[in-house]
Amino acid sequence: MFDKFRDECGVFGICGHPEASNLTYLGLYALQHRGQESAGIAASDGVLVRHSKAMGYVNEAFNAETLARLPGRLAIGHVRYSTAGESKVANAQPILIDSIHGQFAICHNGNLVNAGDVRDELIRQGAIFQTNTDTEVVVHLFARSKHESAEQAIVDAISQVRGAFSFVMLTKDKVIGARDPHGFRPLAIGRLGEAWVMCSETCALDLIGATYVRDVEPGEVVVASAAGLKSLKPFAPAPQSQCVFEHVYFARPDSYVFGESVNEVRTNLGRRLAQEMPVPADVVVPIPDSGVCAAVGYAEASGIPMRMGLIRNHYVGRTFIQPQQSIRHFGVRVKLNPVKSIIEGKRVVLVDDSIVRGTTSRKIVRMVRSAGATEVHMRISCPPTVSPCFYGVDTPRRSELIAATHTLEEIRKYLGADSLSYLSLDGLTGAVSGGPSKYCTSCYTGVYPVAFPRDEAAYLQLALKLNTDGSTQERSESTVSARVPNSVAG
Ligand code: SF4
Repeated sequence: MFDKFRDECGVFGICGHPEASNLTYLGLYALQHRGQESAGIAASDGVLVRHSKAMGYVNEAFNAETLARLPGRLAIGHVRYSTAGESKVANAQPILIDSIHGQFAICHNGNLVNAGDVRDELIRQGAIFQTNTDTEVVVHLFARSKHESAEQAIVDAISQVRGAFSFVMLTKDKVIGARDPHGFRPLAIGRLGEAWVMCSETCALDLIGATYVRDVEPGEVVVASAAGLKSLKPFAPAPQSQCVFEHVYFARPDSYVFGESVNEVRTNLGRRLAQEMPVPADVVVPIPDSGVCAAVGYAEASGIPMRMGLIRNHYVGRTFIQPQQSIRHFGVRVKLNPVKSIIEGKRVVLVDDSIVRGTTSRKIVRMVRSAGATEVHMRISCPPTVSPCFYGVDTPRRSELIAATHTLEEIRKYLGADSLSYLSLDGLTGAVSGGPSKYCTSCYTGVYPVAFPRDEAAYLQLALKLNTDGSTQERSESTVSARVPNSVAG
């Protein structure tokens, strides 16, 4: 809620509906949790592609007038939280260009690890960049492609980038979705009457009344047009690395991502946590909203009743003015308040999905104690987060991740909890179908499936060694298995 990895971006596209831009607006509404800095829509009436984008939430970026200026049966949209490039409207998406292949708009969820190198090379060749996002390199590669058709030029462009991408792209008569060969970020396909829909999470399909059909497969390019849906498999197969954190925290619990119910996976994480890390207690209290599903599972498996012992104020917006330093501890209390009748005189199990810096968790533990808890046991439904992400998620430097720099006992003491336990890595990967071979777990292990530039690694304070297969492995004294046990009691 306050001290978390930041969501990346959300993408949406629809082909073959007379209300395409209005439905895209609604779809972006459902995906708002994936990015709150800017929103944009591009729409095509079959002749001309138009677009509109602005800073802020979806409802701030659009109104009836702006949507009316986006006519047509095809549209794509984007909500952004900047993982690459500054937060400014020039960096908002979709990026729209005119080229030898016709107009082209693109929305991106992910992070291209070779974007810097490709950009430098393009600039050497005379390219002029309008934004400082990684996505713009794809636009240049598309425009320069020697292939005849726009479709072939798109495949040519995206086959030159590496890293995490779920793209939704638009030409005057096609909506094209593409997922990188590792499948880092999700991309679902839905059907609304005769229209095809593509989106980051199925909650966007639910909102517009569309039916979930399947996911875009890792390495697949799907082309929706008046002729129907076409599937291309232009990339060599690669080991799958779907982001397990989508299930842990990012995705909405009412979504299906990677073909699985987020709610079911998250509840299962809680069940496994209770089995691995039991503790005698009177009440299970979730940290809202992030800990709710896991707390349900923890309560179910442990037999300890779950109660909403912390109430969240849903009306604290971005405009909340931080008080002076001297009274800043009110910052958490303005968002969360303990229910004394549930907590007083009880042994409390506090359940959350992750700890990043630990600053907010510490305040919550204090708050629960001051509400009269006799014991506070912290349970986290994923392993300790010890390494930053390079695949489309905003994470702090390694030195700011509390589990990367402190032992479990040090973290427990810092939080002021009576005990602290995390779910094991096996517990996490055992809760998702396909197991560890299908998922990226780099932020828990420091082992990276796709190599990234060393200057970025240096910035994030990683000591890196390339594996023989070209992937990257962090060599440090504080990887999960080497240093951080899963549980400690004070
Ligand atoms: S490093 Fe973590 S957040 Fe990033 S893609 Fe891998 S599992 Fe997801």
